[in-house]
Amino acid sequence: MDSYNGDMRFVHDTLPQRVAFGSGEAAASLRAEIRNLGATRVMLIAAKAEMHLADTIARDVPVALRHDDVVMHVPVEVAERAREAAAAHDIDALVSVGGGSTTGLAKAVAMTSGLPIVAVPTTYAGSEATPVWGLTEGAKKTTGVDPRVLPRVIVYDAALTLSLPVDMSVASGLNALAHCVDSLWAPSADPVNAAFAAEGIRSLASGLPRIVADPMDLDGREHALYAAYLSAAAFASAGSGLHHKICHVLGGKYNLPHAQTHATVLPYVLALNGPAAPDATRRIAAAFGGAGVDAASALDGLVALKRELNAPRALADYGFTEDSIPEAAAAILPSVPPSNPRPVTAEDLQALLRAAWSGEDPANAF
Ligand code: NAD
Repeated sequence: MDSYNGDMRFVHDTLPQRVAFGSGEAAASLRAEIRNLGATRVMLIAAKAEMHLADTIARDVPVALRHDDVVMHVPVEVAERAREAAAAHDIDALVSVGGGSTTGLAKAVAMTSGLPIVAVPTTYAGSEATPVWGLTEGAKKTTGVDPRVLPRVIVYDAALTLSLPVDMSVASGLNALAHCVDSLWAPSADPVNAAFAAEGIRSLASGLPRIVADPMDLDGREHALYAAYLSAAAFASAGSGLHHKICHVLGGKYNLPHAQTHATVLPYVLALNGPAAPDATRRIAAAFGGAGVDAASALDGLVALKRELNAPRALADYGFTEDSIPEAAAAILPSVPPSNPRPVTAEDLQALLRAAWSGEDPANAF
């Protein structure tokens, strides 16, 4: 059964957040939003590689502290150092400029301090539009939901993503696509987030090929960034479906790169769930079709798009090994959402992981 089956009865939470979207306007928007908040001592958080970009954007903002100690998946000791730095400098607002790792660090500070975040994303990961935090201790990643970590404002400026390398743009864009697809059968799937998801898929399928053809295509970048917001808003409302549960275990336990893992695993989850989720697959195929992708089915559309983008294909390419498959499947099994459109066994998960590991045609995986 589809999680969302067309029955128009639902409860939908809309999250309290302002979105300012405009290419070339990040500095002006940030200045206005910091003034709105009445902040006078800003902590500017950016990875070393993005700090020069952050400095430019924050040139008219009262920065009291620049913090570049950013690490993927937010190790607890990294979070603790950032929290101590914020407290020591009497910070009253957090500005993050960067990808999901940077937003994640700002969230870790907001979680314990309650400080407001203005997020300026430079990838399509979407963390800025969710109240989900993540922290890693050793090899174990823990995530949770806390309204305090939801950025108060998002400043989207597609010009900031022009420098994102094409392969990272593709992987990150497919991470956003995964938010869309998974939200159609996630535990709190509803018609509102389904509409966001469908528009997100259409906009990604239209924007990403243009970025691959020309990384400086601002219009393509705007389509992808707009979709990143829609995808994350859908995910924030619908919750984690099977795809996110699988990638969460793979990322945390085997330290696989976040966006590339999502990009690789998605077609296999679609191949598994699709036949049991006709409404979702109709929407996905229609969204691909609306972007001009040849999509006789949802899976055909996704495979065609990935081929056009030369997207990540096999988990083996990212360090996942065949002998880890039984252990990974066993770790994923307890977290399979009861609302998944079809029951999932350890054998199903092993077949899925084996296919994703080798990169075989998802149409033949089950
Ligand atoms: P990332 O933030 O680690 O960035 C990837 C790389 O791209 C980094 O080297 C970074 O320096 C570089 N980069 C970023 N922007 C750039 C730009 N404009 N130009 C050039 N290089 C740039 O990766 P990500 O995929 O954005 O985020 C992954 C992290 O976000 C993971 O930890 C994941 O768990 C988290 N995440 C959380 C949520 C949530 O809702 N909480 C959602 C999505 C992702």
